[in-house]
Amino acid sequence: MTDETLQPRVLVDGIGRRYDTPQGSVQALQDVTFDVSAGEFVCIVGPSGSGKTTLFRIIAGLEPATTGTVYLGGDPVEGPGPELGLVFQEYHLFPWRTVSGNVGFGLEKQGVNSERRQQRVDELLELVGLDGFADSYPRDLSGGMKQRVALARALAVNPDLLLMDEPFGAVDAQTKRMLQDELLDIWSETGKTILFVTHDVEEAVKLADQVIVMASEPGRIREIVEVDMDRPRSRSDAEFGDYYERILGLIQS
Ligand code: ADP
Ligand code: MG
Repeated sequence: MTDETLQPRVLVDGIGRRYDTPQGSVQALQDVTFDVSAGEFVCIVGPSGSGKTTLFRIIAGLEPATTGTVYLGGDPVEGPGPELGLVFQEYHLFPWRTVSGNVGFGLEKQGVNSERRQQRVDELLELVGLDGFADSYPRDLSGGMKQRVALARALAVNPDLLLMDEPFGAVDAQTKRMLQDELLDIWSETGKTILFVTHDVEEAVKLADQVIVMASEPGRIREIVEVDMDRPRSRSDAEFGDYYERILGLIQS
């Protein structure tokens, strides 16, 4: 038996991942170790190719590590589990399903009856600001709205851990800021633990309790920066600027 209260929510312990391809061997991750407490918001930034997506796939149990172990609530990850929500840059919505059908997909698979499902879907659509769009199809939605649907779908089965891989990378700047504010509201309302990959340093400083800065070749942690600032955070604060410059410097060094 593991005592949940003493365990970090996520422990990434000595993770390495090598890919052997006909072109040669790639060390996508090397000796990556960090932990995340329950309810923390952690951002991962780093250049393209520094292993961020690979790390998420390993945490989610979608692929094995070459070395090391990931623990969720003290238990080693051995394959895909139901206990986390995934949101990617590409929305991965089912085009033939309505918004409501997309959000309710996981509940349907769990065998939740249609009345309870509808109730939960309505709550979620309100939470992400999409009430009124239940019967729309993905093709009729903007990028920002599709990403809200993807978030509602990830939240539907009530996971306490969310993994978000560049979720706002494909939306315009103004929509991105709105989505960031909404995500922070949802995070403080629900107490979820969030791991969030971004290549946008400003986004990381705005959102995170901790920013994990990655470097590439091999993919590894360069430094972990704790962001000790009250929320809401303003880009125009000097302190915000200091964190921004420091993290950008780490990425470019
Ligand atoms: P990031 O998300 O930070 O851009 P990735 O995790 O996608 O980085 O990739 C890290 C490294 O691993 C890159 O060099 C990439 O080419 C390589 N890589 C990722 N997936 C595979 C795979 N399935 N086969 C071979 N190489 C891969
Ligand atoms: Mg990636």
